[in-house]
Amino acid sequence: MKLYSPSTIREIKEKYGFRLSKSLGQNFLTDKNIIDKIVDAADIGEEDLVIEIGPGIGVLTAEAAERAGRVVAVEIDKNLIPILKDTLVGYTNIQVINEDVLKTDLNRIIAESGCKRTVIIGNLPYYITTPIIMGLLEKGIEADSIIVMMQKEVADRIRSAPGSKTYGAISAAVQYYCTVELVASVPKEVFVPAPKVDSAVLKLNVRKDKPVRLDDEKMFFRCIKAGFGQRRKTLANSLQGVGSMDKEEITECLHALGIDEKRRAETLSVEEFAEIANCFSRRE
Ligand code: SAM
Repeated sequence: MKLYSPSTIREIKEKYGFRLSKSLGQNFLTDKNIIDKIVDAADIGEEDLVIEIGPGIGVLTAEAAERAGRVVAVEIDKNLIPILKDTLVGYTNIQVINEDVLKTDLNRIIAESGCKRTVIIGNLPYYITTPIIMGLLEKGIEADSIIVMMQKEVADRIRSAPGSKTYGAISAAVQYYCTVELVASVPKEVFVPAPKVDSAVLKLNVRKDKPVRLDDEKMFFRCIKAGFGQRRKTLANSLQGVGSMDKEEITECLHALGIDEKRRAETLSVEEFAEIANCFSRRE
């Protein structure tokens, strides 16, 4: 049975009385070429642990299990659990967990697996793309890389460089934690049902060493949030309220760093955000 074929999805819906849930972001992948691209990019070895977010009917899960030591798939929809039991029958290295991935302690799963290397994969439910990615990174996911499908627009923002219109808080935050590669651009027609927008697969290589030294990580993220929260304002204005400094002191700080206070957050590199945050922390 070709799991990724649209006729299989039809058969499963009939056999199990399964109804695709729009609110859970259920757009199932039906293109073997894209499935292969995701799994190839994950570079899975037979001793590796793969954690999959949202297996659906198991198209990526089965492909990953062919190559990995272990696969743990976290699926929130309880109606998919009996289906996955059937579609993944015969695989002894797959564990399906019926949970909300946002509430799952993935680092505990990784520690308990005993595997040396972990990769995270998934065709993400689009309604929670950003919370999933930021949650993994902020909690310090002990994984090598994260290869995930998302809306093209979000992928473009994550990949953006300073100065670009699409550069924002998520670009700076993700690029602090990871280097980012585009794996594939994906047209909406390869999903059942087709979503309204095109998609893209990104590979986020989790950095072992951060690109900048921070005195206080929280201050760094407060600067990013404030800067982009009021992105049309100059830095001297948008950064007010980040710490206890007034506009004059902020301007002094920026001058000392050689950063023009009339610039806007969208022009700042991750390194410049770090310099500002460190200057702010020292003066707190
Ligand atoms: N991997 C499958 C594929 O590519 O065909 C399904 C991908 S579909 C875009 C997203 C999947 O994530 C669905 O199976 C959905 O039920 C599941 N999902 C949605 N919210 C979730 C959550 N909070 N935690 C875990 N899984 C979730």
